Amino acid sequence: MKQKTKKNASLTGLAKQLLAIDDQLTGCMHCGLCQAVCPVYGVTLKETDVSRGKIVLLENMAYEILKDADELSERLDRCLLCGSCQTNCPSGVNTIEIFLHARRLITEYKGLNVIKKIVFRFILPHPKLMSFFIAVSGRFQRIFRRKANKNMGTFEFPVLRPFVGKRHFQPLATKSFSAKYGKINTLSDKSGIKVAFFPGCLPDKLFVKVSEATMKVFEKNGVGVFMPDSLVCCGIPNLASGDYASFKQLVKTNLNLLENAEFDYLVSPCATCISNIKENWFRFIKDFTSAEQKLIEKIHYRAMDITEFSVDILNVKFDIQERKSGIKKVTYHDSCHLKKTLGIFTQPREILKNLSGLEFVEMPEADRCCGSGGSFTLTQHELANKIGQRKRNSIVSVNPDIVAAACPACMLQLMDMLSQNGDNVEVKHVIELYAENMNNQQTGFTDLKT
Ligand code: SF4
Ligand code: SF4
Repeated sequence: MKQKTKKNASLTGLAKQLLAIDDQLTGCMHCGLCQAVCPVYGVTLKETDVSRGKIVLLENMAYEILKDADELSERLDRCLLCGSCQTNCPSGVNTIEIFLHARRLITEYKGLNVIKKIVFRFILPHPKLMSFFIAVSGRFQRIFRRKANKNMGTFEFPVLRPFVGKRHFQPLATKSFSAKYGKINTLSDKSGIKVAFFPGCLPDKLFVKVSEATMKVFEKNGVGVFMPDSLVCCGIPNLASGDYASFKQLVKTNLNLLENAEFDYLVSPCATCISNIKENWFRFIKDFTSAEQKLIEKIHYRAMDITEFSVDILNVKFDIQERKSGIKKVTYHDSCHLKKTLGIFTQPREILKNLSGLEFVEMPEADRCCGSGGSFTLTQHELANKIGQRKRNSIVSVNPDIVAAACPACMLQLMDMLSQNGDNVEVKHVIELYAENMNNQQTGFTDLKT
């Protein structure tokens, strides 16, 4: 009896979601304008890969699920969730919302694969366990890594090939940012501003220097910082894979850690995290308790990318008088989550154009997706490589010394693509370049804990 009630409840849930998708699908007039901007279609030229093709498929979703749920899932997974179709859709079809709902529905119908289940439900909710793995892997990496591109200082990890293929990485960190600094709670100084700092998994565990650079910018500008030592993943990998229950659990854990904190803004150097926190947490706000809803709403209006925060809130000033230009050439890659989801693209350029010793040069197709797309790069490795190759060609066409980005997930993909091609281009976060440009004597960033 109990089992029957449970089954009925889940069928009702599935039916409700089917209806929610149906409502959204009607906006599509099948004009096909999304073809020109879809990075996946740009490689495969298959109608089934573009937004319109997926929408046609979803118009018969119930039938398609019953016919072959695996096939449907495979076709929906051939999408980076980059938002290019949504941004350029003349009918304003909310494709990302449609695809997220559809993925959730399929996952609830057919279940999650074992590896994702382990990662999403047992590893991501335990950041200290992740930091422990990082520390062990970082310490012993010399044994299992192999030099990949000498110029770029990248490595390949043959033992991880079943999971990450032949991707090239920077050396692993030996200590995560949160393990290194623990809980942070500093008072605001000259800015009068206090922020909640959300580094995100990659800046916390792999690109530790990006987190440290962000802290330098806060410190130099007299911004108070609060960061609990056990923030968990923002939940985007879970949500993108349709595992809504574990996404919700991660959001709840983070909300719980932030609920008593005083902050004016929530800031992250990760474009993917901040777009997920700002848009997707809010998108599903109705599924949370009223206290949680209040906090989600507050965060929605105060979540900011670090470049946006630096330029629009801190009004960072650059000493043009002392500016030496043209020593190194830098170009910029627009992360989809930053430009297409959040509309931020002038602020990172403003920083880069004003840094001493750098000459900014725009690459062609700067806002074309790099092919990363979170787990897309792992599950659709060949496609991701082809999309990434076009981005790599755009980068090297302007012959830069450095390519800057504001999303660590993009940085991983750019580094891999450039390294695989034997190039010699540094990949840096915009905020790293800004922090390097500061007068180091004026920033301590050594004693942040209270
Ligand atoms: S999603 Fe938008 S751009 Fe694509 S076919 Fe439909 S209406 Fe046209
Ligand atoms: S979200 Fe990006 S990859 Fe997916 S269909 Fe739209 S344009 Fe193509």
